[in-house]
Amino acid sequence: MAFLGSKSMIEDNYKQRGLRGKLVRKLRTKGIRNEAVLDAIGKVPRHVFFDEALLGHAYEDKAFPIGEGQTISQPYTVAFQTEKLEIKPGDKVLEIGTGSGYQACILLELGAKVYTIEFNKILYEKTKEFLPSLGYHPYFFLGDGSKGVPVRAPYDKIIVTAGAPVIPDALIEQLADNGILIIPVGGREKQTMVRLTKKKGVLKKEEFDTFAFVPLLGKQGWKP
Ligand code: SAM
Repeated sequence: MAFLGSKSMIEDNYKQRGLRGKLVRKLRTKGIRNEAVLDAIGKVPRHVFFDEALLGHAYEDKAFPIGEGQTISQPYTVAFQTEKLEIKPGDKVLEIGTGSGYQACILLELGAKVYTIEFNKILYEKTKEFLPSLGYHPYFFLGDGSKGVPVRAPYDKIIVTAGAPVIPDALIEQLADNGILIIPVGGREKQTMVRLTKKKGVLKKEEFDTFAFVPLLGKQGWKP
């Protein structure tokens, strides 16, 4: 994994900024409309999350390995989920599945206060050390995010970045009134993107396209 890579890899140069601009234009053609989300994608360096061998692919619209059998999500997926969350500056956001930390950086660029939980100890430790070195400061937690992070609940927004077999009850409970939860739900290989909106205790459910996430593990996830 490129985390804590050489200084030259971390530097954000003219070429990388150009490639990010190209990626933003691609996401626009794929239907992403929220300018704040597109701006955030245009700002966060994605190449710094990549292994040196994969560096040339950092601004392709594809998911890539980050070690531990996990992936950094496809930029379109990151943009899609983030857009559906309708983030406002100051929103308290819980992310399940810290992974590389890229999604957390996008949320922070939008002015959210980010709480992020990761199940894999190696990824948790790497990302907890790496993100602050880039100037990004979410609150990090290690554990089973299918149970949420009750100590800091409620959350205005919750984003699950791994595929779940069901919508975990704990996440619905920890969602604030007027809150939005975005989560891929379905089988181990493919899931439907689901958005739940909570209004005066009543849940509205919307379903979007099919995506392919790595599995959400844990109590209300898949068995490892
Ligand atoms: N958001 C990440 C990023 O920006 O790089 C991508 C996440 S990756 C597609 C999914 C992550 O969810 C993996 O790092 C995996 O270890 C984590 N995960 C799986 N089950 C989890 C659980 N129950 N709680 C927290 N994290 C979990």
